[in-house]
Amino acid sequence: MLAQYAVRVEDSRGRRHVEPRHPYRNDFERDRDRIIHARAFRRLNDKTQVFTHRYSDHFRNRLTHTLEVAQIARTVAAQLGLNTDLVEALALAHDLGHPPFGHAGEKALDAVMREHSLFFDHNLHALRIVEDFEQRYASFPGLNLTFESREGIIKHSRDYNTAEFPELAGYCLDRRPPLEAQLIDLADEIAYTAADLDDGFESHLLGLHQIRAGVAIFDRYYREAEPLFPTALEKLKFNEALKRMMNLFVGDLIRNTQRNIEAAAVRSTDEVRAHPSRLVAFTPEVESERRRAKDFLYRNLYFSEELQPEKEDAEQTIGELFNYWMENPNSLPVTYQQKARSESLPRVVCDYIAGMTDSFIQRQYEIMKKQRLQISD
Ligand code: MG
Repeated sequence: MLAQYAVRVEDSRGRRHVEPRHPYRNDFERDRDRIIHARAFRRLNDKTQVFTHRYSDHFRNRLTHTLEVAQIARTVAAQLGLNTDLVEALALAHDLGHPPFGHAGEKALDAVMREHSLFFDHNLHALRIVEDFEQRYASFPGLNLTFESREGIIKHSRDYNTAEFPELAGYCLDRRPPLEAQLIDLADEIAYTAADLDDGFESHLLGLHQIRAGVAIFDRYYREAEPLFPTALEKLKFNEALKRMMNLFVGDLIRNTQRNIEAAAVRSTDEVRAHPSRLVAFTPEVESERRRAKDFLYRNLYFSEELQPEKEDAEQTIGELFNYWMENPNSLPVTYQQKARSESLPRVVCDYIAGMTDSFIQRQYEIMKKQRLQISD
């Protein structure tokens, strides 16, 4: 049962290349399936989220993080009467554009591009993947996703303006994205806040007392859970508190968004798009709890000294490889050498690096070091 303000697949603006209808899958289900079958999706399995394999092989990577976002987003979407097929496609695609080595890799790639007056943006890169880089179908390049999926990939987490990004002019940049896309950003926030507290605790980089002192909402739920399970292992009490915190975030998001929708009286996706602000939001109280948890993670985990060596490795590997290929474009794979005839070399090298998994780029780095040694011999 779709709400009036949900995206209806029969109203889709369609695909760039017209295709016959599928007998039993609608267009958003097909988008979801195409994303799952894409190479870039499978490579998420070997891309760092926060922790590398140095810590554990059961901590989140970009693929398992993506599945957690999809599961949270589907739950919220179903409660709000949104289009869960579109939501699932958008959630599964939301991190496709991330380079290797997590946020450190993204920063490093952006930094080397800025030396050439260019930049790296993971949403724009994801769009290039689904529009061009994936080569699976004989009739067209890319995945030929519907307009709504491509628009959501671009607009779920930030606003772009037409003056700065004229190539995105077709995506109604002056209007809000549909609720299905708005939801992805906050499902992402819920997923990684909970996951990073969890993995941070298991990695021993974050202590229980430290989390309880720094994240008030977690502490409140730990106090609630502790007397209920007096003999349980500490980690299980931790899990009980974390579960309650996630339920608070998800429940608040559903109820508050419902209230915003009612207050705005939107009755169609057009009215959602025309509304001056995004309607998917937490209450101010829960938003500030979430902010505090996020600030805590930035201070104590993402910018911690313990994770510093990985960041330095990422900068060094990406920086040196980028400059090596800029100076030796003949060492690029032939397909990228061909691309460099019609596009700027820094962009082509950036696209090549951004698509790599953590282990592939590490192998490339070793190969480059050997070649450099041979040259200097
Ligand atoms: Mg994400």
